[in-house]
Amino acid sequence: MEYVSTRGGAPAVPASQAVLNGIAPDGGLYVPTEWPKMTWDWSQVGQQSYQALAKRVFAAFFEDYTDAEIQAVVDQAYGDQWQTPDIVGLHQDENLTYMELFHGPTLAFKDVALQALPFLMTTAAAKQAVNDKIVILTATSGDTGTAAMSGFGNVNQTEIIVFYPQVGVSDIQRQQMQTERADNAHVTAITGNFDDAQRAVKDLLGNPELRQELKDHRMRFSSANSINIGRLIPQMVYYLYAYSRLVKNQEIEAGQAVDVVVPTGNFGDILAAYYAKQVGLPVKTFVVASNENNVLTDFFNTGTYDRNRDFKVTSAPAMDILVSSNLERLLYFASGRNSEEIKGYMDDLQKTGTYELTASTRANLAEFKAGFADEDQIAAAIAQTYQDRHYLLDPHTAVARHVYQQMDSATQPTLLAATASPYKFPQAVLKALGQEPVGGAAGVQQLADFTKTAIPEQIQHLYQLPIRHKKIIKPNQILTTIREELF
Ligand SMILES: *Cc1c(COP(=O)(O)O)cnc(C)c1O
Repeated sequence: MEYVSTRGGAPAVPASQAVLNGIAPDGGLYVPTEWPKMTWDWSQVGQQSYQALAKRVFAAFFEDYTDAEIQAVVDQAYGDQWQTPDIVGLHQDENLTYMELFHGPTLAFKDVALQALPFLMTTAAAKQAVNDKIVILTATSGDTGTAAMSGFGNVNQTEIIVFYPQVGVSDIQRQQMQTERADNAHVTAITGNFDDAQRAVKDLLGNPELRQELKDHRMRFSSANSINIGRLIPQMVYYLYAYSRLVKNQEIEAGQAVDVVVPTGNFGDILAAYYAKQVGLPVKTFVVASNENNVLTDFFNTGTYDRNRDFKVTSAPAMDILVSSNLERLLYFASGRNSEEIKGYMDDLQKTGTYELTASTRANLAEFKAGFADEDQIAAAIAQTYQDRHYLLDPHTAVARHVYQQMDSATQPTLLAATASPYKFPQAVLKALGQEPVGGAAGVQQLADFTKTAIPEQIQHLYQLPIRHKKIIKPNQILTTIREELF
C-alpha cells in the first residue's frame, strides 16, 4: 500500500515519504491507494491495551515501517506522559459514550496524534536518508501549537515554529505557549485573529525563496497539521478502542453499528472515524458538529461549499475555521477516487471561494449529517449537562453535545469525541455556569472550587513557570521573524 495525492499530480510514495512531505507536491493530500485488510474480533480487541491496538493500526497504515520502529513510536507516544495508561477515558451516559481524548500533556485531543508524529517523522527521515533538520511551521488557534510543541519539544533534528493570534486563544493556551521550555521551540504572537495568522503562514509555506534558504541551511519544512497522514492515522485508534470497550462492557453487541459525533474544524478528527469505518468499524452515521463558523453544516445540507462569509471568533476557537482541509480527502473517496473532479473543486475554491458537488458525489455522503451550535447554545449545553448529568464539558465538546441532542438520536449508541478538558477553557466554562470568571491562575482555582472537580496535574504549576516568549508581530513581519529564529 502506498499513498497518492487527492489531486492526481504527484507520484505514489510509501508511508514514510508521505509523513515527511506532509502535503503532496501538487498541493493535494496523501490518501492510501487501498484500504488495508483488517479483521476484528471485538471481544478479543476489548482485552487488548490501547498501545497494542495502536501498534496494529500503525503497522497496517505505515506499511514500510518495521515492527521494531512501530513499537518504538508507540512506546514513546503512549507512555507515562498520559494521566491514564489507557490514553482515552470513557464516560458513559446512557446510550452516549464520551471519549475523553484530553488526558495528555496539553489537555486536548491533538496530543493523541502529536505525541506520535515527531517519532513517525524522525523515523521516516532516517528511513529516507534525510539528514536535513525538519522545520515544523504552524499557525495555531491554540491547541495545535501547544500540542505540537509538547510533541516536538527537544526532539532531535527538529525545530518547531508556532504563530498564534493575539485574539481568540484562551488564557491557559496563551500561558502554555508563552512558557514553553523546549530549546527548539519558537513562539510568536501575531496581531489579529487566527484566520490572519493562518493566511500569513500558508503564504510562506509556498514561498520558493524561503524554501531555497532553508535548503541552503540544510533544513526543510514539514507539517504538523492534520493534513499529515502521521496525524490522521493515530486518531483512528481511539474510535476502534472505544468501540471494543463498549462490546466488552456489554453496552453493544459485537458488530452493532454506532453513531459518531465529532466537534469539527479542519475535518481531521471525524475523517479518522471514516477511515476506521473503511477498515471495519461499524458506524451508521457520522455527525459533523460545527460552531458559528458553520461552513460544513451548510455544505452537508446543500452540497455547496462556500467560504465567503465572516470569520467568527467563538468560545470554541479550535473550530474557528472556514477552509476545512481534510474534507478534500473525504470527497476523494466519495467521488470514487476521481482526482480530476477533486482538482476542479479545489481550483474553484481557490478562485471563487466556493464549489458545488456533483449529484453522484453528493449522494455518496448520505452517511454524514451536520449541525451547529451558536454561542448561547454552547453555553446552554455546558450548563445543562453539568446540572442534569453532573458532567463538565469544554466548549468544543459542548458543540458536539448540542448537535447530538438536536439530531434526536438518543436511542442509537453513540461515540462522542470529548476533545478538550474544561480546564483548558475555565473562563468560558465558568461563564456558561453563570459565574463571573476571573482571569489567569485564579480562574482555574475558581472552576475547581465551584465544580468541586480536580485541577488536572498538567496545569497545576503552569502559572508558576517563567514567561519565555513575549514577542508580538504584525502578519507582514512573519518572514523576517522566521529568518531571525532559524538562521
Ligand atoms: C482541533 C480541535 C478540534 C477540531 O478538530 P479537527 O480535526 O480540526 O476537526 C475540536 N476540538 C478541539 C478541542 C480541538 O483542539
